[in-house]
Amino acid sequence: MSGGSRGAATRIFLGLVVGAGAGIACNAWLGHDHAGLRWFASNVAAKVGELFLRLLFMIVVPIVFTSLALGVAGLGGGAKVGRIGLKTIAWFLLTTAFAAALGIAMVDWFRPGDAVAPAMRDELMAASREEAAKRIAQAQGSGGFSIDMLLAIVPKNPVKAAADGDMLGLIFFALLLGLAAGTLPEAQKRPLLQVLDAIAAAATKIIGWAMQLAPFGVAGLVFEKSALFGASILQSLAAYLAVALGGLAIQQFVVLGGLCWLFAKVPPTVLFRRTRALMATAFSTSSSNATLPTTLATAENEFGVPRDLAGFVIPLGATLNMNGTALFEGVVVLFLAQVAGLDLPLATQLLVVLLSVLTAVGAAGVPGGSLPLIVTVLQQIGVDPSLLALVLGVDRLVDMARTVPNVTGDLVGALVIARGEGRLPGVASRP
Ligand code: ASP
Repeated sequence: MSGGSRGAATRIFLGLVVGAGAGIACNAWLGHDHAGLRWFASNVAAKVGELFLRLLFMIVVPIVFTSLALGVAGLGGGAKVGRIGLKTIAWFLLTTAFAAALGIAMVDWFRPGDAVAPAMRDELMAASREEAAKRIAQAQGSGGFSIDMLLAIVPKNPVKAAADGDMLGLIFFALLLGLAAGTLPEAQKRPLLQVLDAIAAAATKIIGWAMQLAPFGVAGLVFEKSALFGASILQSLAAYLAVALGGLAIQQFVVLGGLCWLFAKVPPTVLFRRTRALMATAFSTSSSNATLPTTLATAENEFGVPRDLAGFVIPLGATLNMNGTALFEGVVVLFLAQVAGLDLPLATQLLVVLLSVLTAVGAAGVPGGSLPLIVTVLQQIGVDPSLLALVLGVDRLVDMARTVPNVTGDLVGALVIARGEGRLPGVASRP
C-alpha cells in the first residue's frame, strides 16, 4: 500500500469512528428526539453523507460497464472467460449458501424468537407497520419468482437498464460487448478498448476526488444514523441483534478470513489491515454498489489483483454475491417463524437456504435492497410477511453490518480466483 492510500484509509476509518462516537454521545446527552440534534443530523450530517453517496453512485454505471467489458476482453477469448466465470459464480454461490446455513444454524441454536414476548411483539409491529406495508407492496410489484426473472437479465435496452439501475441487465450487455470486442480484428478492437480504457481512467479520477470527501461523508452518514437512533429498541431486540450481528462477524472474520487464508494464501491480519477503508465505506454507506469503486481499488492497489481479473470478478460480485445478506435472510426468516410460533422442519429450512441464496443474488446492492425479497421468502414458506415490521426499526444497523461481508466476499472471491490463476503476487510484495 502506498503511503498516500494508507493515509486515506486511516482518514476514512477515523471518519467512521468520529462520526459514530459523536453520534452516540449526542444521542446519550440530548436524546434522539432533541429538535436541534434532529435538525443538525438531517440537514448537515445527512447532506454531507448524501453528497458523498451521490458521487459514488454516479460513477457505478461507467465503472461496472467499462471494467467488465475491458475485463472480459482482457481475459482473452470466450473459453477462458467461461472458465473463470464459472469458477467465480461457483465460489460466490457456495460461500453465499454457507452463510445462509450459518445464519439458520445460529437461530436454531440460540432461539432468539423465544425472547420476544407477545406484548413486545405488538409494540414493535405497531411502530413499523407502515414501512412493512410498503415493502410488501414492493414485493408484490416484483411478481415473485418466475422464469421471466431469468429472461429479464437480457435487457431490451441497455441504456434503459443502466438508467434504471438494473445491474444484471447492464452486466449482461457489458459481458457480451467485451466478448464481441475480443473477436474483432486488431484495427477495430484497439480503438474501442482505448476508449473504454480512457473512460475507466477518467471515472477512476472522479472516484479519487469523491474519496477526498470520504472521511466527512462517512462521518456524516454514521453520525446521522447513530444520533437519531432510538436505543430502547435495541433492548427489545437484543437477542435477535446478538445472533444477527454475531453471525455476520463470524462470516466476516472467521469464514471469509479463513477461506482467504486457505485459498488465496493471504493471512487474516493482512486481509483485514488492508481492507479497513473498504469495511468503513461499506459499513457507512450500506451499499455494495456505492462501495464498488473502493472494492476495485482495494483489490488492485492493496493486493495487486490484475485489472482484468478484478474488473471481471468484482462487479459481478457486487451484484451477485451477498454473503452478509444471505446470512441475514436466514436469520430473519427463521427468527420471524419462531416469533410466529412455527417450528420449521429441516426440509423447509433447506428451502430457506436455497431461497436466501436466490434472493441474495437478486437483491440490489443498495441500502435495504434485500427487504422486498425477504417478503417473498416469508410468503413462500408460509410466515406472515407483515411480521417483518418487527425488525425494521433496527434494520439500518444490521444493513450496515451485512454490507461489510457482502463486499469483503467480493474481494476475497477476486483474491482466490487470482491465486488460482497464478496471478496474485505474494502478500509480502505490496504493489
Ligand atoms: N445493503 C446491502 C448491500 O448493498 C443489500 C441488503 O442486504 O439490503 O449489499
